Formats: sequence, C-alpha cells, structure tokens
Amino acid sequence: MSKNIDPRQQTIRDMVKEFAEKEMYPVSKELDQMPEPRKFPKELYRKIGEVGFIGFNMPKELGGSGKSHLEYITLVEELCYHDAAIGLLCAVGELATFPIIHFANDELKKKYVPDCATGKRIPAFVLTEPNAGSDAANQSTVAVEDGDHYIINGEKIFIMHGDVAEIGVLFCKVEGKPKMSAFIVETDQPGWQARTLKNKMGMRAATTGGIILKDVRVPKENLLGEFGKGFRYAMTTLDSARIGVAAQGVGIAQRALDESVAYSKKRIAFGQPIAKLQAIQWMIANMATRLEAARCLTYQAVLLQDKGERFSKEASMAKLFATETANFCVDRAMQIHGGYGFIGEFSPIEKLYRDQRVLEIYEGTSEVQRLVIAGNVIGR
Ligand SMILES: Cc1cc2nc3c(=O)[nH]c(=O)nc-3n(C[C@H](O)[C@H](O)[C@H](O)COP(=O)(O)OP(=O)(O)OC[C@H]3O[C@@H](n4cnc5c(N)ncnc54)[C@H](O)[C@@H]3O)c2cc1C
Repeated sequence: MSKNIDPRQQTIRDMVKEFAEKEMYPVSKELDQMPEPRKFPKELYRKIGEVGFIGFNMPKELGGSGKSHLEYITLVEELCYHDAAIGLLCAVGELATFPIIHFANDELKKKYVPDCATGKRIPAFVLTEPNAGSDAANQSTVAVEDGDHYIINGEKIFIMHGDVAEIGVLFCKVEGKPKMSAFIVETDQPGWQARTLKNKMGMRAATTGGIILKDVRVPKENLLGEFGKGFRYAMTTLDSARIGVAAQGVGIAQRALDESVAYSKKRIAFGQPIAKLQAIQWMIANMATRLEAARCLTYQAVLLQDKGERFSKEASMAKLFATETANFCVDRAMQIHGGYGFIGEFSPIEKLYRDQRVLEIYEGTSEVQRLVIAGNVIGR
C-alpha cells in the first residue's frame, strides 16, 4: 500500500514538512531537554493553531478548516514523524475540543470552539483521577448545585496541558444524580489549582498537569450536553482520539524505519554496509511489514469514521496495533543503530524511544483496547 490512499495526503505531508523545517526542528531539542520546571511552549502552540492544524478537521463555521478525518490523521502522522511531542500538542487541542463540537449546544460551541480551533485558548480533556484511570467511571470529583452554579471539588491527574489549560472539559459526578456528567470549566479562578507534573519520560514538549479542584464554580449553562451522559461523551471522544494515537504510532514507526534504512546503508562493519547483512535486513523487513499493517488498520478506522459508520472496534484495533508497532520499530531501530541509537546526541532514536512509550498507555491502555475489541468480537 502506498503511504497515500488519497492525493490530498501528499499535499498535507509536504505542508507539514515545510512547517517542521521552519518551526519544529529549530526548537525540538530545546523543548525536549528543557530543565525542570518545564514550561509549556505557548508560542509554538499558538503558531500550530494559527496555521490551522488544531482545527484541521473542525467545522469551518466554528473556526476550523473543515477537512476530513483522513486528512487530519495524515496531519498528525506527519507531525509525529518529525517530532511526536510537538505533534501531540496539536492532537490534544483537537481531543479536548471534540466533545464541545459534538455534544455542546450551539451557544457553547460558538463561545468556545473558535478560540480552541485557532490556538487562542488552550483546552484540556479532564477525565482521569488518581483512582480512576482505566476505570474511568469510578469518579470521585463531585459537582454540587448552588443557585445558578455548580461547585466542583475533587482531583484530576495526568491531564495533557492541564497545567496551562484555559478551558477544561471536565467529567465528574453530580450530587444526587447516578451517572457521570461533563462541564466546560473556565480555569481562571482560584479554586482551579494546577501544577506541571515532573520527570516525564517522553513527549516533553507537551506538558502534563495535576489539578486540585477546590470549590470551582461553573455556571449551570456550562453543562455539556445532558446530565448523566458524561461517560458516553468521554468514550465517544476517546474512540475518535484513538485513531489519532494510532496515527502518532504510524508516524513514529515510519521515522524509525527511515532512520534505520539510511543508517544501515552508511554504517560499515566487516568491510560492508550493515544493510548487506541478513540480520539487519530481517529487522527492516519486520519493521516495514508491521508498519504497513498498522497504517492499513489506521486508515480503515478513519475511513469508517469519515463515512459516518461505527468504528469503535476498528479504532481500538488500530490504536493497539499501531502503538505496539511504534514500540517494536523504535526498539529495532535502536538495535540497528547500536550505541549511536542509545546516546541521544548521535541520532533521534533515543528521543523516539522515550516519546513512543506512552502511546500504549494514554487514551486507554493496550489492555483496555483488547477489552473493547473482545467485547465487540465476542459480544458483551
Ligand atoms: C502522559 C499522559 C498523558 C495523559 N493525558 C490525559 C488527558 O489529557 N486526559 C485524561 O483524562 N487522562 C490522561 N491520561 C491518563 C491516561 O488515560 C491513563 O493513565 C490511562 O487510562 C491508564 O490509567 P492509569 O494510569 O490509572 O492506570 P490503571 O488504570 O491503574 O492501570 C494499571 C494497569 O492495569 C491494567 N488494567 C486496568 N484495568 C484493567 C482491566 N479491566 N483489564 C486488564 N488490565 C487492566 C492497565 O492496562 C495497566 O496495565 C494521560 C496519561 C499520561 C501518562
């Protein structure tokens, strides 16, 4: 299969390459190796928004570019090929805005989406708690009615951009109601206490936050959609975002393969390029084969999404396989590069190794993807 199943994809790849050379490579190392406390790259985030990447597949009437999901997935794949952590900046903006676009009323959409789509305001998807990760429905954060507001107390953790977010799409229980709901929360209030989590292994350009909520006030009209539907909104958002994580994996795996092919042609051992050795050829053949399968699964899922068909199982299959493929390909790339892979000053492989690892964890672990797939295949 060609990398492109649609001619528009090559245009996107070329556009991202140009952006990467101008805006990403000059800051990539600095953002990855910034000493603690790490700072969120606001200026770069705004640029990513201004060129239309965050709102790529968002509706034009809400400030987006109105592209298809396939085009958006290609964008994420290509950004992550050049720098996965910077690609993640864009993907998180899209993830956190998705529930507003799909479940909020028109008033809330008009109020919040255009600024999120264009990078003017930073949104976060605020679901995970210290004791509610895979078991996301086990929320302890509670909203209590107080006149024309709700007052929210609780704690959230591992929230991408949670340390700097200006808008939180926050999931929690509502006192007196059995199921989880969701609110759009403006974070510029003293009760929203956010910090940047330290010593993150990879994806360092995109910071991750922990949030304590102490009497956070949210107007009643900022309820997202309907009461009790928060879990469904979160899971629908994650179904879509999982194709994005699969695309992150494809981008990283492609980079690992390309670096390995180039290196194996120039590295001489025993008087010949190591690319002539069958041991190296087999590693490259395995990487290329898995990468192709990962790309097929990812495109299959996103084509279903573009057609408006069910894609939950396919999204989980794509995420599971593509993220494990990224892990496999980067590991093989390190083997092919030997010491020059392990030491970051010689090649991008060390950074790829750190960046890819979280793909099997966030937006549902590989084990959770297997649960979703089995549930679809066997039936519940
Ligand atoms: C860098 C980063 C960014 C993140 N960004 C966000 C964000 O923006 N917003 C947000 O809300 N969350 C975010 N998360 C949270 C992420 O989605 C969770 O970490 C993930 O869902 C796993 O939850 P957990 O860490 O609590 O692990 P746990 O749920 O405690 O899982 C621990 C282990 O048990 C396994 N396990 C758990 N339950 C089962 C089961 N039923 N069957 C089989 N195995 C099981 C898991 O697969 C895992 O191996 C982020 C996490 C990280 C690390």
